[in-house]
Amino acid sequence: MIPFTLVACNFRYYAHSSSLSHSSPISSSLSHTAFASIEPFFSLLTGIFLSQKMKQFWSPSSINKNKAMVENLQNHDIVTSDEVAKAMEAVDRGVFVTDRSSAYVDSPMSIGYNVTISAPHMHAMCLQLLEKHLKPGMRVLDVGSGTGYLTACFAVMVGTEGRAIGVEHIPELVASSVKNIEASAASPFLKEGSLAVHVGDGRQGWAEFAPYDAIHVGAAAPEIPEALIDQLKPGGRLVIPVGNIFQDLQVVDKNSDGSVSIKNETSVRYVPLTSREAQLRGD
Ligand code: SAH
Repeated sequence: MIPFTLVACNFRYYAHSSSLSHSSPISSSLSHTAFASIEPFFSLLTGIFLSQKMKQFWSPSSINKNKAMVENLQNHDIVTSDEVAKAMEAVDRGVFVTDRSSAYVDSPMSIGYNVTISAPHMHAMCLQLLEKHLKPGMRVLDVGSGTGYLTACFAVMVGTEGRAIGVEHIPELVASSVKNIEASAASPFLKEGSLAVHVGDGRQGWAEFAPYDAIHVGAAAPEIPEALIDQLKPGGRLVIPVGNIFQDLQVVDKNSDGSVSIKNETSVRYVPLTSREAQLRGD
């Protein structure tokens, strides 16, 4: 059975508080007719299919282990590569959330400060979109790193010769993400320095280790920040939710001449990429 209370919870977020709605396909908000009438048809279908497929199989009682979570994502063709599967299997999502019993349920969860950890299928989808840019030795920037879960998966994929950099503007989240990572399979990367998480405004990227092969943004920007495009390597890929109430997960590929190609992957709902003050006010 789908964890109804969580879905209902999400709906409440969507309906009443844009600051809490976060990083899941919009399908669980479909009863909110304003969304249903305006969203592009195919993007909407993507969300519906994804959600319906997951609903048939996700159960908090039976699927409470990280490996089973990854297997389900594979069974539903959300995780399609061995590299992503291995990284998600290695990094136990349970150590990144306080309510471990809900860690493997396909839903975003509150992590305080008006934000949430993304749902597993959103993490998986972003890992898949970036997979070819997360080979050993490559550099990746995770903007809005929150719990550190995805930064940890990135670090496992790029290995000790690569670099995985998280940037998060809430210092308390950076501190807790470091503790989470220390408790995970990515701990050695943190110790030896190929993984680091910094306090900062992610809209400026993190120039120190630019250019990056891959940039992931875990919060929705009204438009793509110029600094992130500047810090992308030619041949590199940026995955970023763009929009305000209506958002698209955009895939931005930088061509060898420095120009970019942008495509919309699917409709999503993430918390805003904003100032710390606006986020804490709940704007
Ligand atoms: N991907 C993370 C967190 C997603 S929530 C996870 O799944 O755990 C989005 C995160 O972006 C939040 O932690 C929020 O604090 C952060 N954020 C929002 N605006 C930001 C900004 N301007 N700079 C850095 N981080 C930001």
